Amino acid sequence: MANQLDPHHLVALMCYEFRSGQDGSARRLDPRSDLTSGIVGRYGTNVRTRPVMDALAHISVSHPYSQVVAIALQLKPGTKEIRLTIAENQDVGDSLVNHLYNIWGKLQALSDEYAGQRAEAWDGNQRTEELDEDPMLSPEIPLEVGQPLKIEIFRDVYHYCLEKQMKRVKKHRTGVGLGGFEQNLSEAVVALVLALELVFKLPEKQLTDGEWEEVYWQSMTANEEAKLVLADSHGLGCENLARELKGDLPGDPFQLQRALEKLISLPHHIESLFGFAHSPRLRSALQYHMTICAVLGQAQIVKLPTSREKWKSFLEDACDEHNRWQGKDAVKLFQKFGLWERECPVHCECGLIQYLQTKHCDSWDNVPAFSYIGVSKLSCSACRVWIEAFNELGGPKFYSRGSHGKWYWPWGMPMAEGPLKEKMTEKVLDEYITQLEEKGKIKKRAGSDGSGAIPSGAEHKISITRSQSAKARGDAAVQESGGDLRGFLKARVPRLVG
Ligand SMILES: [Zn+2]
Repeated sequence: MANQLDPHHLVALMCYEFRSGQDGSARRLDPRSDLTSGIVGRYGTNVRTRPVMDALAHISVSHPYSQVVAIALQLKPGTKEIRLTIAENQDVGDSLVNHLYNIWGKLQALSDEYAGQRAEAWDGNQRTEELDEDPMLSPEIPLEVGQPLKIEIFRDVYHYCLEKQMKRVKKHRTGVGLGGFEQNLSEAVVALVLALELVFKLPEKQLTDGEWEEVYWQSMTANEEAKLVLADSHGLGCENLARELKGDLPGDPFQLQRALEKLISLPHHIESLFGFAHSPRLRSALQYHMTICAVLGQAQIVKLPTSREKWKSFLEDACDEHNRWQGKDAVKLFQKFGLWERECPVHCECGLIQYLQTKHCDSWDNVPAFSYIGVSKLSCSACRVWIEAFNELGGPKFYSRGSHGKWYWPWGMPMAEGPLKEKMTEKVLDEYITQLEEKGKIKKRAGSDGSGAIPSGAEHKISITRSQSAKARGDAAVQESGGDLRGFLKARVPRLVG
């Protein structure tokens, strides 16, 4: 009986069950993810394509609210073709397609500059053989190659993502009591503020080339300093410091690590793209002819149980037993959803995977996609479970960077019939039952968990001279406003100080 339940109803139920938080699956990555159909046939290299896919998805988001992008990669080495397939929770706009063509073209040019520099610096063939022998070896990224092009890519991405970036800044305003921060953190904040001060002139006023250069260097410096802070005990130092600074003040402690991660996310992802352009192993991808395929948005019409009684019998079927609390939950569920019948959007990662699994009568039909799909945001729990269910069907498997552990409603399932529907029902039901056990609402069974780490390739960096001069301009700016960080923030960007 339980297997006949509509998975949409179960997702709505989970959304009610976890209305006040996460389900504990947050940021879980599949440690067994064996990446297939990548740019080259080697795991060590394909792992390095993961941040590139996420970076492409991240720089595709321009709307300040509720835009999520998923992106897949296919290659035809025979004809040297590459295809990016993009999906959103709705239709994909032309401006995004044009933006990606533009950035891709500039990454191709940057890749050519790096390849030219390598050919000059050493015998390229010999070193490529060395690289093939040692998959952990990555040549260092030369600091000054392609500088004007990098600033141009940075500027184009920043322009495209401006509204979204402004929303991040407003949401994660720097908290109170910044004085006494450790050096890296303080330098990251100063550099960020100097970059944002210029960015705030947009879109009313265009920035000069010199100003863009300053935004670039300060953003990259902020990124470098923030990386050091975040690497420190996984950001725990950050949170402890934020808690200490908060002292007895009312409210939650300022989420410093989260703010920092969000504020440097754009330069961080742009750096991943520079690393991509530099990588000798991934270079073939930027030498192929690239096309973009935009997936149409999809939705499912869903009708939830139409009365308290129907919710109650749904809960009884789900638990396969009768309990007093089911009557109470049924009342609350009916209050929450009422006579709910509406279109539920299919989230972009599920829509993308379904598109890749469907025949479209073109030459890409039998070209398997890279099994890692880039996403601009961690997946919701329903999408995580749907992808897990899809991967258990015995066909191709897909992975993304993980889930934030929250259940969202409305949520629509692509391919709402067949074995995938049954599997989805089974898995959501399983998580619901586990939650009831943990709350002590029904008798307990055993459970399990797992986690994984991501290795990485050569890192893009900026030169010490560049970051020192960016920091020197930061120091001077802090001195000008009295020598302390809080005074500096108040004077320079009162909008940013919470
Ligand atoms: Zn989702």
